Amino acid sequence: MAGGPIRRTRFAPSPTGLLHLGHAYAALVAAREASPGQFLLRIEDIDRDRCKPEYEAAILQDLAWLALDWQQPVLRQSDRMAAYRAALDQLAPLCYPCRCRRGDIRAALSAPQEGALPAGPDGLVYPGTCRGRALADAGPEDVIRLDVARAFAALGLDRIGFRDEAILPGQDHVLTRDQFLEGIGDVILSRRGMGTSYHLAVVVDDAAQEISVVTRGKDLFDSTWIHVLLQKLLNLPTPLWHHHRLIRDDAGRRLAKRDDARAIRHYREAGAGPQDIRRMVGL
Ligand code: GLU
Repeated sequence: MAGGPIRRTRFAPSPTGLLHLGHAYAALVAAREASPGQFLLRIEDIDRDRCKPEYEAAILQDLAWLALDWQQPVLRQSDRMAAYRAALDQLAPLCYPCRCRRGDIRAALSAPQEGALPAGPDGLVYPGTCRGRALADAGPEDVIRLDVARAFAALGLDRIGFRDEAILPGQDHVLTRDQFLEGIGDVILSRRGMGTSYHLAVVVDDAAQEISVVTRGKDLFDSTWIHVLLQKLLNLPTPLWHHHRLIRDDAGRRLAKRDDARAIRHYREAGAGPQDIRRMVGL
């Protein structure tokens, strides 16, 4: 990696369970893709109900055992609420409060639609029921959504794009405004009782940590459109992406936190070493 621009990457686990082989692969790829000393760690713990300090401690131990070495300090999203608030304030003119629950959204979508309901990276595409509401009316039961049509209009764009060095490298991935509206819709920027959402927090933090190459699993590829749009609205730099393959179980399913049997810790307790883990994930 001599010459060329500095490549700063991060691994951003949520402490909601033990790290499994899929996380090990994601962390090892992020570290491999970084310039020397430019691998960072971020604990994504905005979901206070699901995140646990003991899982965070286990993550740090497992990563150290894998012989990974990250820059200090570790960023913890629960310490960053003021930064998310500031970003949300900046986007406020393009936002509205929404009180719809899943059932309301499903019912509103089912009325004009037969068959499968439109779904994007965050689930059902919001039909816009609350779009006319003013932010000043937001109550504790509301989420805050971005009015995506207004966001594109504010930017004067009818499409957005990004580059991925692993998927069609050298080509632009492009999504039109209409495809965004139909396939993703008005995304949530602040979840009920949380003060932010995954999308807003990740965009604010990737910029704060000056990440130049965002490495993560292909399952998050469709979320990247949301992140590109938010980066433009917040005037933040757009990084390069590197969406990597996912580690699957023998039945071809993506590993999830519930796959405790594949937790790195269990392999370690059974006598495996870090090199065995690398081999298991094909590195
Ligand atoms: N925290 C996310 C996860 O554990 C990763 C976020 C990202 O890489 O953008 O899946």
